Order: sequence, then structure tokens, then C-alpha cells
Amino acid sequence: MKRLVVLGGGESGVGTAILGKKKGYEVFVSDKGKIKEKYKKVLEHFEIDWEEGQHTESKILNADVVMKSPGIPDTVPLVVALNQNGVSVISEIEFAAKYTNAVIIGITGSNGKTTTTMLINHILKKGDFNVGMAGNIGDSFAKMVADSDFDFYVLEISSFQLDGIVAFKPHIAVLTNITPDHLDRYDHKFENYIASKFSIAKNQTNDDYLIYNADDEVIVDWLKKNPVQSKLLPFSIHKELDEGAYLKNDKIRIHTQNNTIEIMTDALVLEGKHNLKNTMAASTVAKLIGIRKQTIRDSIMNFQGAPHRLEKVLKINNVQYINDSKATNVNATYYALDSMSAPTVWIVGGVDKGNDYRELMPLVREKVKAIICLGTDNSKIKEVFGNVVDLMVETFAMEEAIKVAYKIAQRGDVVLLSPACASFDLFDNYEDRGNQFKENIKNL
Ligand code: ADP
Repeated sequence: MKRLVVLGGGESGVGTAILGKKKGYEVFVSDKGKIKEKYKKVLEHFEIDWEEGQHTESKILNADVVMKSPGIPDTVPLVVALNQNGVSVISEIEFAAKYTNAVIIGITGSNGKTTTTMLINHILKKGDFNVGMAGNIGDSFAKMVADSDFDFYVLEISSFQLDGIVAFKPHIAVLTNITPDHLDRYDHKFENYIASKFSIAKNQTNDDYLIYNADDEVIVDWLKKNPVQSKLLPFSIHKELDEGAYLKNDKIRIHTQNNTIEIMTDALVLEGKHNLKNTMAASTVAKLIGIRKQTIRDSIMNFQGAPHRLEKVLKINNVQYINDSKATNVNATYYALDSMSAPTVWIVGGVDKGNDYRELMPLVREKVKAIICLGTDNSKIKEVFGNVVDLMVETFAMEEAIKVAYKIAQRGDVVLLSPACASFDLFDNYEDRGNQFKENIKNL
């Protein structure tokens, strides 16, 4: 019997353990932190051996294969030891993909993964395809493979998942964009992070597709220097393309496999240029799979988007409140500010992962009337934007931030929470931050 050791007892770890057990492995789950009660129950139910609060090396180094959860860096001593012993350390998608013949659609990029993944899933469902959505969203891919029998999987794939692949390949890959993020996990080298994102295509052949953002110079430059086997289908909101998706007369035109479909952009519910790009990518996938134009159009028209991503909360005294708590980096906030069409009271701050705020300067000058800093250390924001806006206020709790915003905002303004930072200084996570934002607005 082969021994599968799973490092990390979270969603992907427990999913992998279940699948491993089902496929006849002897499974052991080891988590250095605490395993959530609900996962412990599942492990007990499947009679899977586990430990928490430690990694017992004697029970781990004897593995035939190790699945490492995405949160664990390659540099931890245990993983280094496994690698030295020649034990294969892989990610959940690598493990799970072996056990399904479904067509895999994989979405990666620095921003827009969740939105694009959900949109593709939505269109495929409307087209009556038997599709499962997994990855960083909801149930793990491994658990779905263990439990269900889908014809298609739409997977949101992080760079950490991609770092642990060997043979994994999606039939259709989507690369939304690449901007510096998580560099602490990549030796602070942007090239390493880019390479990680591109490994979504590394096992693809010329029967597979890579749909990518042709307006993203990082992506275009990398592709020039590091060609891939995949059939390339770019999308652009700036230029016309021979192949792929682009804008023409306010319509999205998608040209693939020698035919073209057009979709009116006024059909889009999601606002902002970034969402136009996400829609282009998703529609290209849908067209490749053979979904009818009318179905694509109808699905786009009634797709509501995910919470915490430019989510409209309430209008109070003719002031629109918008929750973009998921904007944890500068690029996401760039697109949020870009899509504002009214004077904006901007709530920003949190844990900064080495942000360069200067990119936002033109948009801040043009649109932002006041800044409300919300973080334990706001010095950088104060330094960069202090002289740019008329009013800047520091706050240290959401309730305070909303009270200030309510006072400052006038009829016709927008109050936008788009922090450009992670949330761990004052909140549990971005969802907690977004939920507190919404709660406090509802209490106004
Ligand atoms: P991810 O799953 O990659 O984090 P999300 O769809 O959750 O992406 O969006 C994260 C943040 O980035 C949100 O603030 C959202 O408004 C913004 N965003 C969404 N799509 C894009 C895009 N294509 N380019 C830049 N920012 C985007």
C-alpha cells in the first residue's frame, strides 16, 4: 500500500486525504497548527490518521508521495528534508487531476481569478454543461473528484498550487494578468513569480489553449522570450486582434477557429474595465467549448459578481457605498478607482506587502476627494497622498471609518472601501473586513 502524507489539514488537505483514501492509499494528515473541528470530524469519519500542533518526522519522511497545502512555503525544514530524501512533494491539483478525465479549465493571474472562474462556471451551467467549480473557491478540487463525476472542472488556481505541479495541465488555461504579489514566497524576485504563473501552460500541447491578457506587458514580454506549446488566444481592450477577443464598435468580438461571434457590451452587469477583460476571457472559454452566443450573452447579463469585489452595498442620502475589500493589492485598487464616476471618499490601508502607491496618483488626483486611512500603520499612505487630497483622516476601526465617511460624503459622492492592502492588522481576513464595512453601513 502506498503512503500519502498530507501536510496541512485545511480544505485542500482534507480533500486530498479523502481522495487518497478512496484510491487505496494509506493516508496521514499532519498540521503544525490546529485543525478545524469540522475537518477533524471528516477525517474521523473516513478513518484517516491525523495529528495537529506538530509534524512527526518518522510518520512523514516514509511517505511515497506528499501533498503540501498551498500555505506552506518550500523553505520549511520538513519540506527541504523531504526534497532531499527524494520524496515527491506535490500540490492538490497535481494529485487530484490524475483521478479525473474531465476537461479542465484553469484560471490563474494576480487579480480576477475568482470573478473569471465564477463567470465561466455560470456560463457553462446556463449552457447545461455538467460542470464543477473548485480550487480556491468552495470545496476543494480533490474532494469534488472524490465525490462527483463532472464532465468539466473550472478551477481557480493560485501560484502556490502551480508551484507543486509535475504533469498537471488544463485543456484551457486563462491568465488574467501578472502584477507583483506574494513576492515574499518568491525570493523577492518578480521573474520567479511570473514563471510560477506561466507554469499553468508548461505541460500544455498544441491541442490545448492559453487565453491571456494581451494588454499586459509582463505577459506579452514573457511569452516572447519563453514560448509555449499551447494555442494562443489573446484578449485586449485596446487593440484589434487577428485571433482572440477584442473590442469593436462597443462590442466584444471573439474570433477563434475561423469564426467570429459578437456580444454587445451594454449587456454587462459588472462594471469596470477589469471586468470587461474578465468577461472577454470567460466568453472566449465559452466559445471554445461551443456554447451558443445567445447563452453567453444571457449569462453575462445576469451574472451578479462575487461579494467584496466592487460590491454595491447601499445608497444612503444619495451616497453610494461600495465594498471592494478583496482589493488587497495596488492593481486591484487601480481598477476600482478607474471605474469610479463620482467624487470618491476612499477608505484605504491595512498590511502593505511592499506597495508602490504612485501608480494610483493620477486616479487619486482625478477622482478622490478625501482619504480615510484604515490600518495600524498608515505612514506610507500619508506620505504619498497627504498633499494630494484636501482631506485625510486616520482611523483604526471600521466603525470609526464609516462614521467619518458618512460625515464627509455629500450627495452624489461614492464611498469606496478598496484597501490595496491585506487585512490582518485589524481584521480576520478580507471577508471579515468587507462584512464589517457592510454591517456598519446598514447601521447608519
Ligand atoms: P482573485 O481571485 O485573483 O483575487 P477576484 O476576482 O477575487 O480575483 O478580484 C480581486 C480584486 O481585484 C477585486 O478588488 C476586483 O475588483 C479586482 N479585479 C477583478 N478582476 C480584475 C482584473 N482583471 N484586473 C485587475 N483587478 C481585478
